[in-house]
Amino acid sequence: MNDLVKKYDIQGPRYTSYPPVPFWTGAPGVEQWISDIRRSYNRDTGVDLYIHIPYCYSICHYCGCNRVEVKDNSGEDHYVSMLLKEWGNYCEELGDIKVNSVHFGGGTPTFLSPKSFDIILTTLKANSDDAFIGSVELHPNVTRREHLTTFKKHGLERISIGVQDLNDDVLESVNRNATIAEITDLYKMARNLNFESINFDLIYGLPHQTTESMKKTFDQVLELRPDMIAYYSFAFVPWKMTNQKKIEESALPGPELKKELFHYGSEKLKETGYLTIGLDHFALDSNFLGKAMLNKTLKRNFMGYVDQKSNITLGLGPSAISNTPYSFSQNQKTIELYYQSIERTCDTPRFINGHGLSTQDQKASKVIHDVMCNGIADISSFNIESDELEEMKRDGLLNIDNKTIIMTPVGMPFVRNVAMLFDHYLDGAGTKNMFSKTV
Ligand code: SF4
Repeated sequence: MNDLVKKYDIQGPRYTSYPPVPFWTGAPGVEQWISDIRRSYNRDTGVDLYIHIPYCYSICHYCGCNRVEVKDNSGEDHYVSMLLKEWGNYCEELGDIKVNSVHFGGGTPTFLSPKSFDIILTTLKANSDDAFIGSVELHPNVTRREHLTTFKKHGLERISIGVQDLNDDVLESVNRNATIAEITDLYKMARNLNFESINFDLIYGLPHQTTESMKKTFDQVLELRPDMIAYYSFAFVPWKMTNQKKIEESALPGPELKKELFHYGSEKLKETGYLTIGLDHFALDSNFLGKAMLNKTLKRNFMGYVDQKSNITLGLGPSAISNTPYSFSQNQKTIELYYQSIERTCDTPRFINGHGLSTQDQKASKVIHDVMCNGIADISSFNIESDELEEMKRDGLLNIDNKTIIMTPVGMPFVRNVAMLFDHYLDGAGTKNMFSKTV
């Protein structure tokens, strides 16, 4: 395994979109964007909403998200009114659209008060039906019981708790302050309220992590037994995220230890009854993501692995990304420019970035999506005589059966390397300092 890690530990995209963001060529015009939504829209599956809450009370050194540090909630009411205005703009442009699901991400979604969630969800759910699915990311430091009861009231049944690690030294070194007691209390409160799904986010590759410290973290996590665990590789990109410059680089685990941490965690989760979902998610078979994996209906987007039915995501809030099968668009990134774009003042463009997918993009997107989600992809539409593919086969990462790639369990952690073979944007383009390491 260590030889494979050495060989395949290169920089490459995480493929939460195809093409990856650095290769986007610019946002479609607003008319084109609305037309792309109209031609992709299906009343049965509706649209999925991603709502970005960009505020945090303190910044974690590892963070790679778009967020701002604030000391109080003085901007909250105005922010909520702008989110609703953005949604109102879409309703005006598209008419009666059905909301299939809502996901709140951040930043720190529970920076908002329960009352604000009540206002937002009452508005959005006026366009939904009984099949509505709701999910939210929770920071253990700032989530109260009233948040949870508000989520239950509105059918937000899927919650995700940002645990990251349970070792004090590790957490302190990355400026993350949640304690095991706070996490356990929040978890138990949520269990008592019978949420459909509770996820823990964990990260490997953080400073001071060792196999021993990770064993302890997993023992504590598995005692609680969440329904899902996302076990993310830390993407160290200090040239892009200046907050990561505060991380002591010499305390970071090297590639071999990092791989060992992943191997330990993934084996432990398999032994204790969790299914492996794609690259880095694990779920009980009773959980919605476990079912989607077994039914081969998994999807992958900026939120990771999901079971969305709709093929349209509308992102609300600064930096939020929207997509249809034909295009991506990204809202203005700063809060100020976002407000201007929603109020339609100062000629601020609605989107700061985006991409229209060519036919070649759509073809590559399908193979990359299938291999990343299900570990299997039909490559018959590719004229690929790749020595690298044959080499990966010899290394035991995959099998090729009649123009179909089938990843092996050994190969799945290297699935990004396989996906890269079908990415025409990487042809001849240096990836140095554009992406994090694949392993
Ligand atoms: S990791 Fe989460 S809580 Fe920490 S700074 Fe980033 S968005 Fe905020």
